[in-house]
Amino acid sequence: MQLVVATRNRKKIEEIKRILQGVPVELFTLADFPGCPEVVEDAGSFRGNAMKKASAVAHFTKKPALSDDSGLEVYALNGAPGVLSARYAGEEADDRRNLAKLLSEMQGVEEGRRGARFVCYLALAFPDGRGKTFKGSAEGRIGRKPRGSHGFGYDPVFYPEGHERTFAEMTSDEKNALSHRGKALGKFKEYMAKLACEEHV
Ligand code: IMP
Repeated sequence: MQLVVATRNRKKIEEIKRILQGVPVELFTLADFPGCPEVVEDAGSFRGNAMKKASAVAHFTKKPALSDDSGLEVYALNGAPGVLSARYAGEEADDRRNLAKLLSEMQGVEEGRRGARFVCYLALAFPDGRGKTFKGSAEGRIGRKPRGSHGFGYDPVFYPEGHERTFAEMTSDEKNALSHRGKALGKFKEYMAKLACEEHV
């Protein structure tokens, strides 16, 4: 089966390639399809955004497409930054500014109320309009200052449940075993392996 990975993020492409090792799929990226339109992520939910991107790419390329949308939900902030995770600090948002804004919003929040979770939806869309989504989440808590230098985004302040190190203090294998994206990709891999088997019957 052929599959277009509908993201321009190199890290995500490498992660998906690594996880799909052993599954007989021929992977393409958006670099193979110049002219593929950018999709505005305005669906209001991770699931909706992921499916919107995957459907647009499947429609344009006429091949199955995989896309993801993810972010951080902090319970004391009523689920913020949520779907706005990448743009939390506004126009000039980047990882450093987003992190600073989160820590400032959480300044007065006591220890027992610092719970949060990362959420990831993967969407697989087919050119005929069919689609399927895979969800992964990782529960944890928000620290008071950044720790660690690996990963990206909110990793330096996120302590996964049962751990005293942040995602940014873990190796990528350690993080993938616990993370929202790792879990969603695991479900996706299982589905693809089954699909590939059926194609060969
Ligand atoms: P997107 O899925 O690329 O749209 O990611 C949205 C934003 O959520 C990123 O820019 C990060 O701020 C945050 N995010 C998503 N996944 C992670 C993660 O694994 N670690 C840290 N931040 C993340």
